[in-house]
Amino acid sequence: VLSVDNLHKVFGTRPVLRGVSLDVAEHEVVALIGASGSGKSTLLRCINLLEPVDDGTIRLDGEDITDPRVNPDRVRRRIGIVFQAFNLFPHMSVLDNVTLAPRRVHRLPAAQAREQAMALLARIGLAELAGAYPDRLSGGQQQRVAIVRALINKPRLLLLDEVTSALDPELVGEVLALIRDLKADGMTMLLATHEMGFARQVADRVCFLDGGTLVEDGPPEQVLGEPREARTRQFLRRVI
Ligand code: ATP
Ligand code: MG
Repeated sequence: VLSVDNLHKVFGTRPVLRGVSLDVAEHEVVALIGASGSGKSTLLRCINLLEPVDDGTIRLDGEDITDPRVNPDRVRRRIGIVFQAFNLFPHMSVLDNVTLAPRRVHRLPAAQAREQAMALLARIGLAELAGAYPDRLSGGQQQRVAIVRALINKPRLLLLDEVTSALDPELVGEVLALIRDLKADGMTMLLATHEMGFARQVADRVCFLDGGTLVEDGPPEQVLGEPREARTRQFLRRVI
């Protein structure tokens, strides 16, 4: 589904991604780990074309989406992204939040968008809150709505950037459970996370980024359990 090859990104004079190559296959869940500032969010933002890249290519189903002739809106319909916090528009009901993209971008008839949105909300047990404003929802509920909102375009790939970091600990579980469900459905995902336990459970592969370089890439048991690289061991000693 996704193939990132030799990606470079510089902010000013500071290289933030230094030749990152990474593939995500269909139905695969890949966890990105690494210290703060290692480039995880930048990588996800580049993949969603929210940041221009300086060198390298990103292919989505074989198409080079870094080609300047590519329409970024068309790409973003195929790649969902959810951020750490503040994902919902506070002045819109839950339902309007979820149907906004299909109504605007897809030009889907409102009734159809509504039907799909209600099905997604029912799935996460929040159908009865469709008319509520986000401030009536808990952080965990808000984040689950943000995740299903990203699914309404039926993306090929879902990018999740530390979607549990801003949540109170007791709310983390419900969001992780939703991600586990999506995996069971076969959703292809690339997720940046600080939750090593979750990465180990849910990811098919774990990629460790350090200073903009992909240091290690392998099955969770190997990368988290028996890391080959000294830098990975050092990082894990600090976070676990
Ligand atoms: P965290 O775990 O804290 O979320 P991260 O791995 O996601 O960290 P990034 O947010 O990708 O790291 O940041 C990588 C580096 O790029 C950091 O040094 C950051 O300061 C820098 N950076 C990110 N965005 C910008 C920007 N828009 N302009 C300048 N520098 C930026
Ligand atoms: Mg980040």
